[in-house]
Amino acid sequence: MTASTALPANAIEVRGLEKTYAGNKKSGPKTALHGVDLVVPRGSMFGLLGPNGAGKSTLINILAGVVNKTGGTAAVWGRDIDADPRGARAALGVVPQEIVADVFFTPREALEVQAGFYGVPSNERRSDELLAALGLSDKANAYVRALSGGMKRRLMVAKALVHAPPVLILDEPTAGVDVELRRQLWEYVRKINAEGVTILLTTHYLEEAQELCDTIAIVNRGRVVACEPTPQLLRRLDTRNVVVTPESELTALPKLKGFEAVARPNGAFAVSYKKGQSSVEQVLAAVRAAGVTIADITTEDPDLEDVFLALTYGDPDQPEPTRD
Ligand code: ADP
Ligand code: MG
Repeated sequence: MTASTALPANAIEVRGLEKTYAGNKKSGPKTALHGVDLVVPRGSMFGLLGPNGAGKSTLINILAGVVNKTGGTAAVWGRDIDADPRGARAALGVVPQEIVADVFFTPREALEVQAGFYGVPSNERRSDELLAALGLSDKANAYVRALSGGMKRRLMVAKALVHAPPVLILDEPTAGVDVELRRQLWEYVRKINAEGVTILLTTHYLEEAQELCDTIAIVNRGRVVACEPTPQLLRRLDTRNVVVTPESELTALPKLKGFEAVARPNGAFAVSYKKGQSSVEQVLAAVRAAGVTIADITTEDPDLEDVFLALTYGDPDQPEPTRD
């Protein structure tokens, strides 16, 4: 890249992206992405959050050029993946979800081979620097098969960075990684983000996305159901449930002022409220005001699936989601 080349405003731009897997005779075709729009600004630490099967890996694998889209457009660093696939790939490092271990190489060799694959000239290679950055220096000449799962994953991060891409994608990088390693990995990811590398990471843990990412897009069932700066999104997700077991069985759900009761098993019902706006006490007051004597209460955080469904229901542009 020459000095006069303007940097793109967006590291990743995806428009109307669609993917239908052909499937086999038994399963039939499966649509994993239903027209996804996504813009990842240059320099951001962007989280793609969604439950298993949401379509996160499909989206990433399309960007990486290992899955063919069936509709829409995608560009990495301003380079369209159809018009300039090599350019798009050169701008991107991807740490895939599955651990792939080079059984016959040492970590240093694995990085050299990868650098060769990307055509990085010898004098620009940085294998030792990357090994050091990811805490693998003392394993540089060990066999990869002798590494722990966490070390293999760090080696995958190093491999994704051999060509110094301006965009790094990590697909569920902490699945199966212990707490200490996770912390180290995030420290490193934060550091390279501060140095200017745009990060896109997928996770199905809200806590992980909220801790790391400045912006979070939520995908569910192949659709983006929310995309907002993290603090704004958290305010929207700030709901809790109070589960009430009445003293005696009710013949109908109580009508509550300002809240809604939803049936639960064994005669209980749940009431959800926004943490910032109301409190358990207000919920209980409304329950008592409806003439219910309370035998027991518990509070719970809604699981992400509930949140995703709620967000999807709330959007008039989205068709009703179906559970499959
Ligand atoms: P995520 O990464 O969010 O868990 P995926 O992109 O892996 O989601 O999967 C999205 C959907 O596409 C799922 O329903 C999954 O079963 C389906 N899918 C993924 N890969 C294939 C494939 N190779 N063939 C058929 N269906 C697939
Ligand atoms: Mg996945």
